[in-house]
Formats: sequence, C-alpha cells, structure tokens
Amino acid sequence: MRIILLGPPGAGKGTQAVRMVERLGIPQLSTGDMLRAAVAAGTPVGLKAKEIMDRGDLVSDDVVVGIIAERIEEPDAKSGFILDGFPRTVAQAEAFEAMLAKKGLKLDAVLEFKVNEGELVERIIKRAKETEARGEPVRRDDNPDVFRTRLEAYRNQTAPLSAYYGTKGQLKTVDGMRPIDEVTEAVKGILGR
Ligand code: AMP
Repeated sequence: MRIILLGPPGAGKGTQAVRMVERLGIPQLSTGDMLRAAVAAGTPVGLKAKEIMDRGDLVSDDVVVGIIAERIEEPDAKSGFILDGFPRTVAQAEAFEAMLAKKGLKLDAVLEFKVNEGELVERIIKRAKETEARGEPVRRDDNPDVFRTRLEAYRNQTAPLSAYYGTKGQLKTVDGMRPIDEVTEAVKGILGR
C-alpha cells in the first residue's frame, strides 16, 4: 500500500505511522527524520536545511522531492510506504504524482488527521517534556515559538492539500483528537487492516 499521512505538526502522524509499519510491514518515510539525519551528518542538504528547520519554515520543494524520489527506489519501499510529512505543498504533491505515474503506481489513500489547533501547542509542550524525561534530546523546533511558525507553514502551504486530494476522491479524514488507540482503530477501519 502507498499511503500519505496529512495533518499539522503534533497531530499524531508519527505515532500512527509507527503502528502502521508494524501492521502493514511497509516502511515509514518521514522527510523530517531524513532531513534531521542529513543535518546530523553535515551533508550538503543538511547544511542547507538546518537554518530553515530551526526557524520552522519549509525546506525547498526541490530538495525534499529529490530525497523522496531516491528513497522510494530503495528495495524496502518497493511494495509500499507510509509518507509522513510529505508532500507539504501542492508543488510537492504534483511532483510526487508525476513520479508515481512514471512508474505506473497509484496511491491507495491519503489520511488526514483533523485536530483542534488550539490544543496542539499544549501537545507539543507535553511531547518535549516527555522526551526530556526519557533522557532523549528534544527537537530544536519543538518549542512554542518555532511551533507556531510550523503551524503557520501548515496552514498556508500544506492545508490546501486537503482540497487537492479531496477533489481526486483520495482523501479520508480521521479525528486526531481521540485517544491514540481509538485513532489507530479508525485508521484500521479506513484501510481495512
Ligand atoms: P517534521 O518532522 O515532519 O515535523 O519536519 C520537520 C521540519 O523538516 C519541518 O518543519 C520542515 O522544516 C522540514 N520538512 C520536513 N518535511 C518537509 C517537506 N515535505 N517539505 C518541506 N520541508 C519539510
């Protein structure tokens, strides 16, 4: 299956993606994770992306489209994947669609996690505290100020994707404010497993 997870930062896409990986046996492709790895490794892409990510803005379409084009060629992604955090702009969605069309592949579903934005800042503060309590490093962009910029980027650049996929009849919505296990059940109901 080829699935896109859509929803603002903190909506629970990553949490559900991990569960879907176990259930469906396909990899989670998170452009955020890939970019953070590039930053940590100091690659040319990482050097370019670091400042942009620290501000909470979006990295250029060319860079992320290039990363995804390479990643879906890896053997583990041949039978499907869960895209977490990509596409984030209409230009990325169009580039991705062209990429799939060239290979004769189709998307199975776009799952949008609907959340109450007012509660997201609280969630992200909680996520940072829990990460800290586990002794793990807290993401530099998981602080309230940068988070607001990330939400704004979502509203302005990513939210239009709901209409984009809605028009194509590919969009399914999930109530992301429900407890984690209930969201998982809703996702299972939509995907049939
Ligand atoms: P995430 O882990 O998905 O919240 O992504 C963290 C940061 O990486 C974002 O705030 C962006 O700066 C960058 N990023 C991740 N995915 C994309 C994408 N598809 N397009 C542009 N920037 C991205």
